Amino acid sequence: MAADVLVIGAGVAGMKASLLLASAGRRVHLIENSSIIGGRLIRCEDIFPAMECATCMVSPMQQDVLRNDLINVVTLGDILSIEGSIGNFRVKIRKRASCVDPVACIGCAECWNACPVEINNEFEENLSKRKAISIPCAGALPNVPWIDRENCLRWNGDENCSLCAEACVFAAVDYSEVDSEFEITVSNIILSTGYQPTHGEVFEKYQWGICPGVFTASEFERYYSSNGPTSGELVTKDGLKPESAAIIVHACGTGSHSNINTMYSLKFLHYLMEKLPDIRPVVFLDASYSPDALEDRHHLKWRNVEADVILYTQIPEVNKVGDGKSLSITCSTAEGSFQAETDLLVLGTSMLPSTGTSKFIKLLGIECSDEGYVTKPEPGLSSVMTTVPGIFAAGCTGGPLDIASSVTEAAAAVGRVLADANRGEK
Ligand SMILES: Cc1cc2nc3c(=O)[nH]c(=O)nc-3n(C[C@H](O)[C@H](O)[C@H](O)COP(=O)(O)OP(=O)(O)OC[C@H]3O[C@@H](n4cnc5c(N)ncnc54)[C@H](O)[C@@H]3O)c2cc1C
Ligand code: SF4
Ligand code: SF4
Repeated sequence: MAADVLVIGAGVAGMKASLLLASAGRRVHLIENSSIIGGRLIRCEDIFPAMECATCMVSPMQQDVLRNDLINVVTLGDILSIEGSIGNFRVKIRKRASCVDPVACIGCAECWNACPVEINNEFEENLSKRKAISIPCAGALPNVPWIDRENCLRWNGDENCSLCAEACVFAAVDYSEVDSEFEITVSNIILSTGYQPTHGEVFEKYQWGICPGVFTASEFERYYSSNGPTSGELVTKDGLKPESAAIIVHACGTGSHSNINTMYSLKFLHYLMEKLPDIRPVVFLDASYSPDALEDRHHLKWRNVEADVILYTQIPEVNKVGDGKSLSITCSTAEGSFQAETDLLVLGTSMLPSTGTSKFIKLLGIECSDEGYVTKPEPGLSSVMTTVPGIFAAGCTGGPLDIASSVTEAAAAVGRVLADANRGEK
């Protein structure tokens, strides 16, 4: 049998690459840092462009990955070191203890209902709380909780707490489980560690963190989601139903990320129209943004949307009105100045390299762009090669992409791995 392959990151790109490699008979080690697989796609309710249900799209893929005998899925996994070169990479991996037996657990929620610790839920962009034993959201896969030992009372001064174990009639909670380490040898590595959204703190100028009606794109995605913090009710962060809504599409300024902003901002218009049908949203677009139609095939759609589209010549200024329940947005346009008031403002925020992407660029000595994404040495010939032979990058590891392109890159990376094997570099 040909050599094993390592795939790092179980988002849509990593899952697709693993399934394709397994279907070609290759054994795959799919290492995922978090407790679940699916990546950022599972934070979405609907998927642009066809507005498909994200769960319906991703759930069969997640289950195929988890059931495939050739795919060794390691959640709560950390890569400790990678040595060697193409055909013979030696990789040390640590599997953090979840302290829950995945075979005995049925995901019934009794344990986290019993846990007294409440902390911000990072998966929900800190918009809701989770327990020290938890799954990130309803429907997450694997549907098995884990104990976050950094916040669990047992590891922080109260070793007698055993409320979660007492609540579990299946005896699935096991405090004695410890981290384990193992080593593998692989011929190739596919990096699919993805992106992270820009954090809201940099958007104070738009009153983020000050006014409850201001959302980053990732926050808004969770607020709309039926398994999100408000079960899909579109309200401001203090629970009020908005009577007006606006989107600033290029809140980070224009640049290479703008096609994704366009894509999901159009989706957000659908969300607004569906949940708040009496509102006509105002959309703020940078007037200087004239993308290459091949790069951004969605841009022209702004001409036909049911919204007031304002082309600004200077970045909009956002101020709070009164107690901050409402916001005033002012900008210059070619026709003069424009001003609107809104209760809800969504910021089209950029996608940045994930901390995992930055970590592996450094660890593996891969060249990267000024923005911190993996550089492709031959962009015209291959979009998945990195500057290190035998290591490929798929999905948003190489820059912001939509799901279709991430999946295409995963397939291209697998093609390269199989081609290496045919050349004897396995
Ligand atoms: C607000 C918003 C809405 C969007 N809506 C759409 C849409 O409707 N349609 C569409 O086509 N695209 C959409 N996108 C883009 C979409 O999210 C991406 O195309 C897709 O998630 C990329 O998948 P990926 O696998 O490359 O990366 P990710 O989804 O980021 O997955 C990366 C995985 O790697 C893991 N990882 C990270 N670091 C490590 C590490 N050190 N070790 C192990 N694992 C690690 C992560 O936990 C994660 O599971 C949207 C983007 C945003 C910001
Ligand atoms: S650990 Fe036990 S209580 Fe918690 S979800 Fe699993 S089966 Fe239910
Ligand atoms: S031991 Fe106590 S604090 Fe820790 S996860 Fe269980 S219930 Fe929560």
